[in-house]
Amino acid sequence: MIIPKLNKLTDEQYTEVLNIVAEFNCEIKTIHGAHRNIYAIIGDERSETLINRIVGLNYIDRVDRMESLFKAMDINSDLAKHVINIGNKVVKEKPVFMAGHCTIDPKNPNYFFETAHAVKESGADVLRGGVWKPRTVPYSYQGNIKALEILLEAKEKIRLPVITEVMDVEQLNIVIENKIDMIQVGTRNALNYSLLKKIGEKTADSNTIILLKRGRHMAPVNEFLCSAEYIVSNGNPNILLCPRGTMPNLDSYRNHPDESIVPLIKQKTWAPVIVDPSHSVGKAQYVSACALAAMSYGADGLVVETHFNPTAGIGDDPVQSIKPSVLQQLITDSEIVWNLKSRFTLS
Ligand code: PEP
Ligand code: MN
Repeated sequence: MIIPKLNKLTDEQYTEVLNIVAEFNCEIKTIHGAHRNIYAIIGDERSETLINRIVGLNYIDRVDRMESLFKAMDINSDLAKHVINIGNKVVKEKPVFMAGHCTIDPKNPNYFFETAHAVKESGADVLRGGVWKPRTVPYSYQGNIKALEILLEAKEKIRLPVITEVMDVEQLNIVIENKIDMIQVGTRNALNYSLLKKIGEKTADSNTIILLKRGRHMAPVNEFLCSAEYIVSNGNPNILLCPRGTMPNLDSYRNHPDESIVPLIKQKTWAPVIVDPSHSVGKAQYVSACALAAMSYGADGLVVETHFNPTAGIGDDPVQSIKPSVLQQLITDSEIVWNLKSRFTLS
């Protein structure tokens, strides 16, 4: 990681550094931190000569040679000072809440508008709504571009940032063109490295925030952080990590709830952790319990499937969406737990 003395390299300085690393068959990726740009060397950067030539430039502060597998995501990275803002909240200073339909029903736009208003009233900071859906069964509803118009209209009406999932580069280009504030990478694509790279590159130098879910099959924290590293090292440090349950082995939950992983993630990275209790347990009646457990483990926020009338919903909404009144109580309770959380973990 090349750290400049000032907040960024000038064009001439950048070209000089680029020419040096190119001599060693390496490339540079710029990561736009809130305070200062840092420049990741991609390739085999072990050469002493390469490092010495860069450190010798009078506008370079230092080159961090971390042994870490995830140099940008590492808790000791210069990006640990990076700040992510959602609405008027600074993430990690206050808990953030995202809520809305699993799936926007293109045939019933008013359902989504009704939920959107209620979610805002309940105190959520971000409206979620699935446009394209990754479905296990190929015959299930797969999403519809019309839902994007509904999401944009809801955003206009309630003036909250919105989040939706993309599964490929075509969808990514569409959400970027439409200035969607936050992009979800779901559990199935959490190991799709070429998509993760593209997301980093195409949202570099923007305010777009990426919520990366933990893969269902991911065991070690390191693997999760390496996936996030693909996004961040390709240019976008606005990353939120989202545990959402792994392969199920408790008989009656949809997935195996993994909120206890939050402090283990936080030992290794500066990136905020937002837990999804809805997919973790998959049943509306247990969502609040899982969410409050996540908050007591130190989560920085929640993403919760919410529908004003879950039984009228599609996708996961009928089984796992909570009602806005439940969301409102959950947000109040989560804020209480947030203020108490230092009592729950021994340092
Ligand atoms: C979702 O958020 O509705 C979803 C499909 O997410 P996941 O990737 O966690 O299954
Ligand atoms: Mn869902």
